[in-house]
Amino acid sequence: MGSEIPSVKEGGRTLIIGSTGFIGRFVAEASLASGRPTYLLVRGGRLSSCKAKANAAMSLQEKGAIILQGSSSDKATMEKLLKEHKIEIVISAVGGESILGQLVLVEAMKSVGTIKRFLPSEFGHDIDRAHPVEPGLAMYEKKRTVRRLIEGSGLPYTYVCCNSIAAWPYHDNTHPADVFPPLDRFQIYGDGTVKAYFMAGRDIGKFTIKCLDDDRTLNKTVHFRPSKNLLSINELASLWEEKIGFKLPRATVTEEDLLSAAQEMVIPRSVVAALTHDIFIKGCQVNYSLDKPTDVEVTSLYPDMPLKTVDECFSEFAKKIADVPKPVEDSGYRVSIVSPKSKPEALVLT
Ligand code: NDP
Repeated sequence: MGSEIPSVKEGGRTLIIGSTGFIGRFVAEASLASGRPTYLLVRGGRLSSCKAKANAAMSLQEKGAIILQGSSSDKATMEKLLKEHKIEIVISAVGGESILGQLVLVEAMKSVGTIKRFLPSEFGHDIDRAHPVEPGLAMYEKKRTVRRLIEGSGLPYTYVCCNSIAAWPYHDNTHPADVFPPLDRFQIYGDGTVKAYFMAGRDIGKFTIKCLDDDRTLNKTVHFRPSKNLLSINELASLWEEKIGFKLPRATVTEEDLLSAAQEMVIPRSVVAALTHDIFIKGCQVNYSLDKPTDVEVTSLYPDMPLKTVDECFSEFAKKIADVPKPVEDSGYRVSIVSPKSKPEALVLT
């Protein structure tokens, strides 16, 4: 575990909380790639009980990250670490269960008084504009509480609203980029025409880091709305069929199906069902304009930064599939109504 203070060459000393998680890993990789002095807060006990997380932390350390031990919801520890390592920027990518723990972190940053930018754990929708059903709403209310504390504290902040991950949007999987798109049948939400923005995980990391030293993102909400990555689930399905070279049957998952999956209150699966309903039935990513003075859009801020298309992401998924099963000759691609519960096992990327 390192403790040296590197000189600042490319941006301020940046602490990332949640780097062993799904979104945090992308952010940590991008921070290291940008040459910033990158510190990672890890909970030691959690690493020793999870080999994958320990490996993730070790691989980031090999790339130059400095590992600090502690929990972001421990005020005294956070004050000590922030001072000792002269941290200037803090990015939190803690998961749903730790959102309110960030209230303590905000207090710690406020008392230290040297933080130049804080990015709380957002990385989804504009939670002040979207109104999903429960249990999605409860998570948004926690994120809103964190926002209000930040705004009242005077800490400089940026909210990253990166919308959806470029992958098949399974309604029961929190990390869809870890799973291949379907190879047996598509589950289409509603009529399949509502559009959403899809961002490659690496681009979420890259653009998040780009925002850190930019005055235009100070106390702003950064929306990720690349027009070329705006697709409906019908369009996603056709794109995937192009990649795998054969057609798949389409089944409809109705609004009622999604609402009843949300009402089951199985966390985190029901949260994902509630958000899937908000995205693909209610259109929560596209039903408002960026008309507040606090709104900025990432591809307008950085028009020259390359951005991966969904087409490219799906090509990568297709390449990873060594042996694509061929469909049965006369499968008769009928559209049927299925319950979300009947979804077959998804193939997990290794
Ligand atoms: P994960 O559950 O995958 O990872 C959470 C990370 O935070 C882990 O590294 C965990 O480490 C760490 N952590 C949690 N609590 C603490 C703490 N008190 N102190 C230090 N570290 C802590 O989270 P996700 O990546 O799924 O979620 C991150 C954010 O991204 C959330 O706001 C979520 O809503 C959003 N999100 C957006 C998606 C999208 O498609 N746009 C998809 C998924 C998430 P430990 O090992 O110690 O538990």
